[in-house]
Amino acid sequence: MRRRRDDGPPRPADADLLVNAGWQEIGDGVFVRRHRSLDLNCGLVVGEGACLVVDTRSHLGEAAELIDAVRTITPHPWTVVNTHAHYDHCFGNAAFRPAPVWGSRGCAAALAATGEQQRAALVAELRADGNQRAADQVTVVPIDPPECLVDDVQVLDIGGRDVALRFLGRGHTDHDLVVEVETSGDGTVVFAGDLIEEGAPPAFEDSFPAEWPATLGRLHAMARGPVVPGHGAVVDAAFVGAQREELLAVLAAVRAGRPHEGPYDAATMRVAASRPLR
Ligand SMILES: [Zn+2]
Repeated sequence: MRRRRDDGPPRPADADLLVNAGWQEIGDGVFVRRHRSLDLNCGLVVGEGACLVVDTRSHLGEAAELIDAVRTITPHPWTVVNTHAHYDHCFGNAAFRPAPVWGSRGCAAALAATGEQQRAALVAELRADGNQRAADQVTVVPIDPPECLVDDVQVLDIGGRDVALRFLGRGHTDHDLVVEVETSGDGTVVFAGDLIEEGAPPAFEDSFPAEWPATLGRLHAMARGPVVPGHGAVVDAAFVGAQREELLAVLAAVRAGRPHEGPYDAATMRVAASRPLR
């Protein structure tokens, strides 16, 4: 429940939430919002008279809450980008219309192809957890794929700021986009989607384990500042390099037929082993 402003003097932590609505500024006008639900990160880039929202959460209720939070930072019209077609990053898209939604060509195709399947699996999972309200919201959400499509790179002008959307190769899925924002000095902020995961092993269900390390090699080469993972705490280039090493170890263990020697838990390694290895 949202805290009402007339609840009396807030404690310091609440005051922070009231002012920032959960946003953390990690570069000039570049914000990340880390959600309790799924430990998911969304991004916000604010320019002159325009802003960009990175990922839209799992249903219209969560998206509306995100929109309220965006409006505590900026009144400007938004453009939206989806890092990839997994429900937690794009099922909220319809709440942001009629704004343009960007994504990779593969993201639009994957969401059109798997959206209903993802919905059914998520609704079943939420009902099993006794979370009827969220299950009902996911049941009715319109699946609304991006229509502004990126093949390899697209530079957006967000109120005078260049924001590059880049496909760096297959990894977590066959269509992950990263969002690169220039900040003051020579720095950048990179929103990496689920190519990078902090606080839990990366998710391999739709992954390409043989190609993921090279994709992270490219991400590592371009990172000059904060790197925002799809889930978990904000990291940096060194973390990207370390996760690349872990993914190489996954690949080596699976190719050797010894997944139990990999760097992650048995369930994660089993999924990795089920995916294409060449
Ligand atoms: Zn994902």
